[in-house]
Amino acid sequence: MEPWPPPHRCLGTAAPQPAPPADDAGPTPGTPAGARRLAIFLLRLKTGVVIDQAVEALAGRKQILVFTGAGISTESGIPDFRGPQGIWKQFDPDDYTYDRYINDSDFREKSWEKQFRSPYLSASPNDAHHAVTRLWESGRLIGCVTQNIDGLHTAAGLGPEALVELHGTANQIHCISCGDRPEFDAIERRWESGEVDPACLRCEGILKTTIVYFGEDLPLDATTRAWHMAEQADAVLVVGSSLGVYPAAFVPLDVVDRGNPMVIVNRGETDHDFRATVLVDGTAGEVLPELVNRLVGS
Ligand code: NAD
Repeated sequence: MEPWPPPHRCLGTAAPQPAPPADDAGPTPGTPAGARRLAIFLLRLKTGVVIDQAVEALAGRKQILVFTGAGISTESGIPDFRGPQGIWKQFDPDDYTYDRYINDSDFREKSWEKQFRSPYLSASPNDAHHAVTRLWESGRLIGCVTQNIDGLHTAAGLGPEALVELHGTANQIHCISCGDRPEFDAIERRWESGEVDPACLRCEGILKTTIVYFGEDLPLDATTRAWHMAEQADAVLVVGSSLGVYPAAFVPLDVVDRGNPMVIVNRGETDHDFRATVLVDGTAGEVLPELVNRLVGS
């Protein structure tokens, strides 16, 4: 079925600007530099038009569900899944199975080392994470469901009542036997002092971050809360996700299935562009603050 209103695709990658910067003499047709400036100028104008359309699609909606993926964190220095610098260019996905984690202590040792030596532990939220928090504070969100495990929504001040981390998080640890949840810092201290595969102090079971590995079920509480938010939502705003990972992608699609608008802010295509009300093909850290400014003001 043809979505209505029809999707609008903009090929811009920058936030809208009504005019070139003051120190820019503006497009000078007839020269290569002038043609380039003219193209950038037109793309920015076009992005601005598409953001207008996104604001229009979300206007009056008070229960917006934000659904985020790895793309919202690339500007914080964390690579996405499938991009040119994507995580699977550095790591083999077959390594990250739950069975292997449970049955292979060498693999667990390596996993803890990667965990505690990860450069991503020190990443900071960017303007897009802060824009999502601002949207929540404005009272327009039912909540934010993220596929990300980087903890950056929390670091941007989004409280647990507003956030569902569907794939777990790298900075929470639990015991897979008794469910105990030791403090992350306490386990890190034990690891630093030489325990290469720290075990649960309560039951001696295997400890693991709450990141969902391949072959592992999604956490039940997070799944239940995500579906509850999707059922209540009156619109969905997708940010930085290819919408190609399931069952997570069913969450925003459920909102659309019930006749609500979907706005996608993503660099490049997603698997469900054809279902979007408005597509903003741009960079989350540039587009989202602009979109939220206009929404909160509307
Ligand atoms: P994905 O890699 O499949 O898709 C990310 C999308 O974001 C791509 O289409 C990419 O072009 C786009 N993108 C990249 N930078 C962008 C930017 N600055 N602004 C807008 N769009 C941008 O990611 P996914 O859909 O989230 O699925 C990947 C899976 O990998 C998820 O399950 C997630 O848990 C996991 N993952 C998480 C992280 C993280 O926590 N930061 C990082 C990598 C992968």
